Amino acid sequence: MKECALLAVGDELLDGRVTDTNSDFISSRLQSLGWRIVLRAAVGDELRTLADTVSFALRVSDLLVVTGGLGPTRDDLTREAVASALGRELERDPEVEQRLRSFFDAMGREMSPSNARQADRVRGAEWLQARLGTAPGQWIEEGGRVIVLLPGVPREMRDMLDNDVIPRLKERYPGGEASTAVLLVAARPESEVGERVSEVLAGLEGLKVSYRALTGQVEVRLSAAEAGLVEEGRKRVRGALGDWVVAEGEESLEGNLGRELRERGMTLAVAESCTGGMVGERITRVPGSSDYFRGGVVAYSYKAKEELLGVDAGLLLERGAVNEEVAAAFRSGVREKLGADLGLSVTGVAGPGQGVEREPVGTVALAVADGNGVSTFKYRLPGNREMVRMFAANIALALAYFRVRGVSTQNLR
Ligand code: ATP
Ligand code: MG
Repeated sequence: MKECALLAVGDELLDGRVTDTNSDFISSRLQSLGWRIVLRAAVGDELRTLADTVSFALRVSDLLVVTGGLGPTRDDLTREAVASALGRELERDPEVEQRLRSFFDAMGREMSPSNARQADRVRGAEWLQARLGTAPGQWIEEGGRVIVLLPGVPREMRDMLDNDVIPRLKERYPGGEASTAVLLVAARPESEVGERVSEVLAGLEGLKVSYRALTGQVEVRLSAAEAGLVEEGRKRVRGALGDWVVAEGEESLEGNLGRELRERGMTLAVAESCTGGMVGERITRVPGSSDYFRGGVVAYSYKAKEELLGVDAGLLLERGAVNEEVAAAFRSGVREKLGADLGLSVTGVAGPGQGVEREPVGTVALAVADGNGVSTFKYRLPGNREMVRMFAANIALALAYFRVRGVSTQNLR
């Protein structure tokens, strides 16, 4: 696979004043063109460090994209650093200098001498036209490798990347656009997902697998230069973990849940406590969710749980609000009240304090039921309040999705 390094230049990127969004943007563009990003670095406005980093990046990649430091001020050192790393001269291009001058004339401004530095080109480089700003970019070939210098201003950088650089890259490195598959697995720990996946993918040379643990979900990403290889990998992962795959590619869990409900002509109602409406919010993100979503109740206090959902006050007093019985009562309450086929409930202790509950922070109880009965679940989740809430919402939606499709949730606990 073609390998690429990205360098973002500027002191402001090191001290937290500016977030390096340029590299994120370039990464995603290049990735879909079949490039593997092997290095990303941010470097301050310091000539030696910059030149050394350029040299290093060129040792580990076929393509180096540098953003920033192309402006007219003294701290804009990208041109000098790259020239020094390659052992080449900088040459001022009179034509570009004249163009810059006209640009300033047109705005009725005097061009300062330092602005002329933007006409300095690493010997042998080709210009990349600046349509939006003053700083042109540069395309440099060096011993079979390519170095691209782009402006730091995100709008200018994106324009140059999409209109100049990507077409040139496609020509320079034809074919091999990467193919990618993304599968979202719910309710299984990352370690288990990793083991199952590497088992089934054994022998598929050239297929790259990466995992990302999200709250309550694991994203499995497969990529390779060959689409057929990715498709084979995708099939195998589905074969091993199919029941637990809740979304693929651009799909979402809530969208898939909605599709399953609609296909079966079923309706859904939710009762939420610790998630405060997050589950309902997710369900209603999907256009057309009114076809199957009856509504939800956020019952936070014991009083609301009793009065809105008919949860037995004695049960709450005796057991607290975070347990399977309350979740079940909660869910029955909302299912009856709203006349839905499927009832889903989630109650938990999101923290940071335990409050009046008996259960420790992170405990979440859930229940899901249809005409055939009820299943209850209890989890102890790690993380802070926000993570517990996100996890609880994700797992609630996943449980509903499993239930609708008739996936056994016996060993989920
Ligand atoms: P200019 O001609 O504007 O001077 P330049 O190539 O010198 O362009 P910089 O001066 O390094 O670019 O950056 C210009 C502005 O662009 C910065 O103030 C910053 O807000 C933004 N910027 C620079 N690098 C990045 C980056 N990697 N990610 C996001 N924004 C950036
Ligand atoms: Mg600048």
